[in-house]
Amino acid sequence: MKKYIMALDQGTTSSRCILFEKDGRIVSMVQREFAQIFPREGWVEHDPMTIWSTQISVATEALLKIGASWSEIYGIGITNQRETTIVWDKATGEPVYNAIVWQCRRTADYCEALSQNGVRDMIKEKTGLLIDPYFSATKVAWILDNVEGARERAERGELAFGTVDSWLIWKLTGGRVHATDYSNASRTMLYNIRELKWDDELLSLFGIPSSMLPEVRPSSSIFGYTDRDILGAELPIGGVAGDQQAALFGQCCFNAGELKNTYGTGAFLLMHTGEQPYMTENGLITTIAWGIGDKVYYALEGSVFACGAAIQWLRDGLKLIESAQDSEYYAKKVPDSGGVIVVPAFAGLGAPWWDPYARGMIIGLTRATGKYHIIRATLESMAYQTSDVIDLMEKSTDIKINGLKVDGGASANGLLMQFQADILGVDIERPVCVETTALGAAYLCGLALGVYESLDDIKKNRSTDVVFHPEKSQDWRESKVKEWRRAVSRSLGWKE
Ligand code: ADP
Repeated sequence: MKKYIMALDQGTTSSRCILFEKDGRIVSMVQREFAQIFPREGWVEHDPMTIWSTQISVATEALLKIGASWSEIYGIGITNQRETTIVWDKATGEPVYNAIVWQCRRTADYCEALSQNGVRDMIKEKTGLLIDPYFSATKVAWILDNVEGARERAERGELAFGTVDSWLIWKLTGGRVHATDYSNASRTMLYNIRELKWDDELLSLFGIPSSMLPEVRPSSSIFGYTDRDILGAELPIGGVAGDQQAALFGQCCFNAGELKNTYGTGAFLLMHTGEQPYMTENGLITTIAWGIGDKVYYALEGSVFACGAAIQWLRDGLKLIESAQDSEYYAKKVPDSGGVIVVPAFAGLGAPWWDPYARGMIIGLTRATGKYHIIRATLESMAYQTSDVIDLMEKSTDIKINGLKVDGGASANGLLMQFQADILGVDIERPVCVETTALGAAYLCGLALGVYESLDDIKKNRSTDVVFHPEKSQDWRESKVKEWRRAVSRSLGWKE
């Protein structure tokens, strides 16, 4: 009797497995952290075999933990850290180098040179991305240029490239399937998101043979079956999506204009824009949300560098709080921030400011300012930054948002969520299940396998924990945002 959908959530610091019931409830969850490898300043790698072994062990443990067997699993959904790049030998399944992680800056100079070569607009137009070491293309090129013999082997058709989803699919199917989904392909900087194909001009720009590339498939479709020798069962892999896109799906943002924000160390905002890829010139990324059947849906993505990180700074730097949760307790001791604004531009500011020289600032201090005001202002900065990105999304499309769905560690903070509702003037909805990334992978899989009949069927699962309604006037909102922007303008260009 089939009962559960298995989600493999392969993240940057840990591999996790969650078993979901059809109604979206979690019945088992196991997580294993693994080593981060820092060979040099700014370089970040993972061992692909460790990614694989931790992922398989948590999958097995998640079953054992509840005494379930493989025969009770409908199928597997995969969601993954995006952009991280693995190259392996097609014959042996051996990686030729460690996984180069999305955070790795080793190709910064290469990207800088590309930007100056005048290919920026062409890349943006085709891929929706900004030239940055995050994306896979320059990482693949680095491996081919720096691992002895790699280029020759690649040219002979012996090597495969994949993001982490492809790597897991390959391993799970015993090397029978080399595939990825639209959402992951759209993060490689090699995929033409309009024409839906690997782009020859980009492949030749980066010197990457097309024989290395995975086949791109709809996010909700059967990618293949697990090899019985590996899992002891032949199970369909029915859903695949990059982590942020999976979270958008898990939040049931199925229609244009629906968006979610994940309040973690940084914040990740994704807005579903329907079947239209909106191209913007202001630092937002255009990406594929997912493909279902013969349709592909797009999203706009923006991020805030320092979100929960600002709370970590209150705790570890200023030592004003002992735990992140304390921030709410202290902030509630004052009715407002007393005119204080904190701009957490610790490492510059992203969209819409794009200033690497901006630095953090506390402004508006008076003799009446106390620690509670500073804590409150720091929480408020998370909401202001979110609101700046959303404002940009609205301006870049003809879409007006009418609500925001939230998840991530800091979404637990009620004061922050209420302030966010007040600043945006829309409802903020926090779901009961904040494991939206894994849930999205499970839903994509369940949809492909017919566990769910339709998106509406999935939506019925959604249960809301709290809705925060805006309680302030338009005038209040405008004057607060104006004050915030005045503060930000003073933090720009500080570092010379
Ligand atoms: P990540 O996946 O980036 O590690 P998480 O989603 O686990 O992030 O969220 C952790 C972040 O959220 C930390 O930066 C932490 O400071 C912040 N955070 C956690 N709980 C709260 C809270 N109650 N109020 C404000 N910030 C919080």
